[in-house]
Amino acid sequence: MAHVVTQPCVGCKYTDCVVVCPMECFYGDATQLYIDPDDCIDCGACAPECPVEAIYLGTDVPERWAGYVALNADRVRALKPHGRVTEKQPRGA
Ligand code: SF4
Ligand code: SF4
Repeated sequence: MAHVVTQPCVGCKYTDCVVVCPMECFYGDATQLYIDPDDCIDCGACAPECPVEAIYLGTDVPERWAGYVALNADRVRALKPHGRVTEKQPRGA
């Protein structure tokens, strides 16, 4: 299992979450961020940093956002060549 970024992340570019991750799990596109399920160690550090509660432990993802589990894995695979997001981004960047 891994942590998963869900719908409330859409549009957030504060990225408070990425700076606390010890495994540098985060990738992003123009829509939102995603967590690499292979690298995430479920430390839980990121979830409380997110101001809109977008991050859940995989087993705790609300039913309406269940599709985000596969979406995170799929998008990370596609985004890997573009590199990780490890530094806080300014809003709107
Ligand atoms: S802080 Fe939350 S909403 Fe913002 S980028 Fe991170 S997961 Fe997404
Ligand atoms: S749970 Fe820990 S390892 Fe996984 S993405 Fe969040 S901060 Fe990174």
